[in-house]
Amino acid sequence: MSEIQGTTQLVGVFGWPVAHSLSPAMHNAAFAQQGLDWCYLPFAVAPEQLSQAVRGLRALGLRGANVTVPHKQAVMALMDELTPEARAVGAVNTIVVCEQGLLGHNTDIAGFRRTVDEDGIDVRARTVVVLGAGGAARAVVYALVQAGAKVMLLNRTVARAEALAQAMGIEVTAGVLDAVTLRQTLEGAALVVNTTPLGMWPVVDASPWPEDVPWPQGVPLFDLIYNPGETRLMALARRNGGICLDGLRMLVYQGAEAYALWTGSYPPVEVMYRAAALRLGR
Ligand code: NAP
Repeated sequence: MSEIQGTTQLVGVFGWPVAHSLSPAMHNAAFAQQGLDWCYLPFAVAPEQLSQAVRGLRALGLRGANVTVPHKQAVMALMDELTPEARAVGAVNTIVVCEQGLLGHNTDIAGFRRTVDEDGIDVRARTVVVLGAGGAARAVVYALVQAGAKVMLLNRTVARAEALAQAMGIEVTAGVLDAVTLRQTLEGAALVVNTTPLGMWPVVDASPWPEDVPWPQGVPLFDLIYNPGETRLMALARRNGGICLDGLRMLVYQGAEAYALWTGSYPPVEVMYRAAALRLGR
């Protein structure tokens, strides 16, 4: 980031809390590298202040914002327009301020898709087991179905998995996340995706995987958690021949899509990745 001045274009992230966010480091590193007079700021926005904060985007002349936990669904009602993908997924993570008003996008879909594609994992007509049915699972399930996968969505609260499958209006099989169901669904799986926060720092001993279920030999794992760099679940998959896709790359790619929407210029993703990794002490 160059010196902030009167001409500096502003974007940021709305979250609650937001202090842990890697996005300011990631985006500001890319602005600096590209010599853009832009700055990315963190905004701690309490849920009851969300509508005022969103209105403030226009009032303050910001060019847009990312939206993170817990606002991704609530913010939808505050948009003037939604992309078809954001509407289908039922979540917005990027707002673009344009002449017509506020446009809500979902770049998590592209972030997930690009990470899977880069690792050469072909999910077409194959079973993908998704653990968890919260906010992150929405974009993941949508991207997988678009790619032609047969999605098995397993969640502690089965009603939530069923509701998500139904709300998205797409063919997804939902079930409870327990040892019996997991064993039944793993047959022929091309990929397992963890969208639960189990194993995330600081509770790094946790895992969504039942102790008595062996990891399916050689099946890759995409754990969306990026802190720590290796979760307990990743260690289990690696010990059993499964490669692990990098959750930090998904974060960088969703950020890169947002950056391109705001600035019209695609960022240097390796610069963003290094800045994020540095913040994590890697
Ligand atoms: P969320 O909306 O709170 O959903 C959490 C999910 O995990 C729910 O399905 C919940 O099940 C399940 N869960 C929570 N605690 C559990 C437990 N003790 N046992 C079994 N299941 C449990 O969270 P989110 O926004 O989806 O985020 C999930 C994770 O994804 C976080 O670690 C986040 O950092 C990560 N993420 C990464 C990226 C990336 O770019 N890499 C992007 C988005 C999110 P119930 O429905 O039963 O409560």
